[in-house]
Amino acid sequence: MTTTDLHNPADGSHLATIALLDAEAVDDAVDRARTAQRAWARLAPVARGEGLRAFATVVRAHVEELAALEVANSGHPVGQARWEAGHVADVLTYYAAAPERLFGRQIPVAGGLDMTFAEPIGVVGVITPWNFPMTIASWGFAPALAAGNAVLLKPAEWTPLTTIRLGELAAEAGLPDGLLQVLPGKGSVVGERMVTHPGVGKVVFTGSTETGARVMAAAAPTVTNVTLELGGKSANVVFADSDLERAAATAPYGVFDNAGQDCCARSRILVEESAYERFMELLEPAVAGVRVGDPADDATEMGPLVSRPHWEKVASYVPDDAPVAFRGAAPDGPGNWFPPTVLTPSSRTDRAVVEEIFGPVVTVQRFRDEADAIALANATAYGLSGSIWTRDLSRALRVARAVEAGNLSVNSHSSVRYATPFGGFKQSGIGRELGPDAPFAFTETKNVFVHVDEDPAPEESA
Ligand code: NAD
Repeated sequence: MTTTDLHNPADGSHLATIALLDAEAVDDAVDRARTAQRAWARLAPVARGEGLRAFATVVRAHVEELAALEVANSGHPVGQARWEAGHVADVLTYYAAAPERLFGRQIPVAGGLDMTFAEPIGVVGVITPWNFPMTIASWGFAPALAAGNAVLLKPAEWTPLTTIRLGELAAEAGLPDGLLQVLPGKGSVVGERMVTHPGVGKVVFTGSTETGARVMAAAAPTVTNVTLELGGKSANVVFADSDLERAAATAPYGVFDNAGQDCCARSRILVEESAYERFMELLEPAVAGVRVGDPADDATEMGPLVSRPHWEKVASYVPDDAPVAFRGAAPDGPGNWFPPTVLTPSSRTDRAVVEEIFGPVVTVQRFRDEADAIALANATAYGLSGSIWTRDLSRALRVARAVEAGNLSVNSHSSVRYATPFGGFKQSGIGRELGPDAPFAFTETKNVFVHVDEDPAPEESA
């Protein structure tokens, strides 16, 4: 049996050895999932809702345990990890209402009655990345289960522990055997088999754009439906008329949260020329103030990077001659520590400006006017997120409509709420997760027409 060793990113210590499944295990899982799904879909909608509410209750009772696991496996600060575990319970609670609200439509037609049904797809594969293992898994499995599907869930190789635990908690909550199965394994083995298996009707993939494109191609021969949540290189656009103090004080948290390992990280700060010097003066102490350290400490705001290979990738964007404006602090010693780093490249096509770094490295660039700000914000293959700082509401709305991204915030860095849709434009993805419509992404629309005989004696019955 193939195994993998997991290490604590904060100190390098050995954490666990995990068995990696093979392709045959995926085939067996699909068979079990099909059986479980048929029974689940036959349940009354209220019973499926109760199942999800019970799951939410069990997750909420294990928030501390799940958070501690995420701290150890992923290096997330404990306050953030608690939020993530609580968010899973919130997402389950939100979608527990969905089975009773999977409305179809009655459409006026001649000669009878026409209606639509939202039918479950069947078996759904959810493939997650290592940066937010719990939350991203729940965005897939909660609405998919609500819509009457079974779910196979593959966590990323580096961070499977909380996902494995969520699978156990689902069973503890009484979800039927086989309905939600966690399949740890390699992307090239378990992930690929999930995508190509003819019994899997839909795949929700979250990860890099490169792998997402491969998943889409692998899904094509079986015409398997995909939702793709991919990379990002989002802009934080700061106009001179904004509350510069607030814009600068919050900018580090818009990019350095989760050590920058966030698909929505505002990793390109764009500042109007006339406010640039003042903004940089304000940004320096804000970056120095980010509390980087032991993720198990309640006061910590930023932990280590997830792994050594990832640390090396991030470090490659800050060579000795990099245009470093200033940096924050990071602990010495073992662990994948990387300080918050601010770069000011002179070229608009610098590698650090164009590529997703996925670490605590941000670039700051100047723009001339509104049109230049929009052009710069859109000068990327990605289109996931972004922020706009201005006191001019009309400008805020003009720019928000012009930026090609799925999730924008004005005078804030908010991206994710379970009640609102989330996803990317351009190479940041296809489809949307979360929000009221998410369960419908896990259904097929069926149209049924019922012929109605003409009234044989219309005058008499009138
Ligand atoms: P990755 O693409 O390397 O891996 C993601 C998942 O895909 C892992 O579980 C991996 O095992 C699996 N995988 C790898 N090869 C596969 C294959 N051939 N077939 C099927 N599955 C395969 O991504 P990562 O490094 O884990 O995550 C970081 C990336 O994820 C970043 O680019 C980030 O922006 C993106 N991301 C996007 C969102 C979003 O919602 N848009 C959210 C979080 C992360």
